[in-house]
Amino acid sequence: MSALKLGSFRLSALSDGCFRLDGGSMFGVVPRVLWEGLKPPDERNRIHLGLNCLLAEGEGGRILVEAGLGGKLTPKQEDLYGLERTDHLLSALEGLRLKPEDIDMVILSHLHLDHCGWSTRADGGDRFIPTFPKARYLVQEKEWEAAVSPDIRSRASYDRRHFAALLDEGRLELVSGDAEVAPGVRVRLTGGHTPGHQVVVLESGEERCLFLGDLVPTFAHLRVTWHMGWDLFPLELMRVKEEVLKEAQERGDLLFFTHEDSTPFARLDEKGELCPLGPDADSAAALG
Ligand SMILES: [Zn+2]
Repeated sequence: MSALKLGSFRLSALSDGCFRLDGGSMFGVVPRVLWEGLKPPDERNRIHLGLNCLLAEGEGGRILVEAGLGGKLTPKQEDLYGLERTDHLLSALEGLRLKPEDIDMVILSHLHLDHCGWSTRADGGDRFIPTFPKARYLVQEKEWEAAVSPDIRSRASYDRRHFAALLDEGRLELVSGDAEVAPGVRVRLTGGHTPGHQVVVLESGEERCLFLGDLVPTFAHLRVTWHMGWDLFPLELMRVKEEVLKEAQERGDLLFFTHEDSTPFARLDEKGELCPLGPDADSAAALG
């Protein structure tokens, strides 16, 4: 786990483990010969990916960005996804001496099943209830609509068990477009990957951190034309990605990568070169 200070925020990366997805689907039309050196596929053509969530503690309370793959997978699905866990999101929180009721807000970049898994948990029977009982859960309105009545292509990417209870229990808060949702915390609607995908911008003084979600899932996806086969609106995604990364580079923003399996934090230097921040992130932040 790595943690660092960003102005008045304390940021902690919380891992929900690692998993594997088909390399071809992660890189769309990019030929395997180009990506396999960076992300070597296993014998089932799957590449190794992180499930990184971000905890931001600041003036607006404790905000969790993203909720991982969750705890509802069957053994067959765990094998399909090559799930590897020493820790998961809730045990990582426990490592910080935090309980689910200590979380004030959960912001979800979108509702694909590997991004909102821990949003709900089984109540002991067949019902699912919000895992973070005191939290408001923020999702873009367009994303909610796409998830509750998914198109034929996206049906397998959404799992209602992860989010239906948020509405039933009155914990869901829908956002339309860009908005400030807490002091220094903004969401920006990007679309591209899904109709209602959003990135999260944390800002304190001159410093900013961007939670990129599936706009740029790993370091390899920093190349503007390298994007996932699942992206519903590729041209829109490329346009927004170029804009977001250009601004991030100019401002020296800290970037957070949800599916990177090395370290989730990095910056781009003046030349646009990637500068990952290792586990020793505290000192890197102090220098930066
Ligand atoms: Zn996704």
